[in-house]
Amino acid sequence: MALSVVDLYVKILPRTNCKDCGFPTCIAFAGMVVSEKLPLKNCPHIDPALLAPAQEELNEQYALGKWLKKDMAGESLSLAKEKTASMALEDIAQRIGASPGTPDGPLKKIDHIVLPYFNQTVLISKNRVTDSNGGDLTRNEQTVIYIHMAYGGTTSPTGNMKSFKEFPNTVSKIVSMRDQVETPLKKAFSSRKDALEIACKKTGGTNVKDRYESLDLAFQFRVFPKIFITLLFWDESEGFEADVKLLFDETVLDHLDIEATLFLSEHLGRLLINSVA
Ligand code: SF4
Repeated sequence: MALSVVDLYVKILPRTNCKDCGFPTCIAFAGMVVSEKLPLKNCPHIDPALLAPAQEELNEQYALGKWLKKDMAGESLSLAKEKTASMALEDIAQRIGASPGTPDGPLKKIDHIVLPYFNQTVLISKNRVTDSNGGDLTRNEQTVIYIHMAYGGTTSPTGNMKSFKEFPNTVSKIVSMRDQVETPLKKAFSSRKDALEIACKKTGGTNVKDRYESLDLAFQFRVFPKIFITLLFWDESEGFEADVKLLFDETVLDHLDIEATLFLSEHLGRLLINSVA
């Protein structure tokens, strides 16, 4: 019998979200154990009688390749880098709303572009993406950015925001959006509305609650000049659990594919959780 993320969460983990494993929730840890082979013993609170048999079951499913995460980010990054290699940086900059950058010195040939990204800017060359201090971005961030550069269209955001499931071909990713983005956010900020508000402001979000009056919080993030995400939050009350939903400008798939939209959403979730950890 194999152990899915839900099996692990329900049958093996203590479900206390104590964070001692380094993850904000037990479900986030379970996801990493099942898909990334993280050792189960990294949770120090599992009943010793359950630990060894569960790890044995996991080892068997790893050997079969069951539920292991394919290296989607790596494959997408290589393809997008290959495609952008043949494009002029000036054209990419114009298309995605970035500024062309030139090196110091007499030769003023454009060798990078400068792209606003949340509340910072990133510098992008054909082979590298760095923050304004020269630090490398994570691989998932680079993947999103190169896909945006390679496939981003010319349309501008309309301001009409839609939920993930309203976009075509998202069925296979809805569970990932729930388990990897919405559930960790919900668990991290349930009864912590003020902390979420601080996190949203630190991450460059704009308060748009006036557009969503029945909610406890609504913040919009201008991730890139042409990509907007809105976070909606209902705090727990009177027996109802907290809830989180992300909305995307209806043009988002003109600029990113579904996988990159999911990577970006995961990144936003991590930024928010880590900014007040
Ligand atoms: S260590 Fe991690 S997996 Fe274990 S109970 Fe705490 S949060 Fe859950």
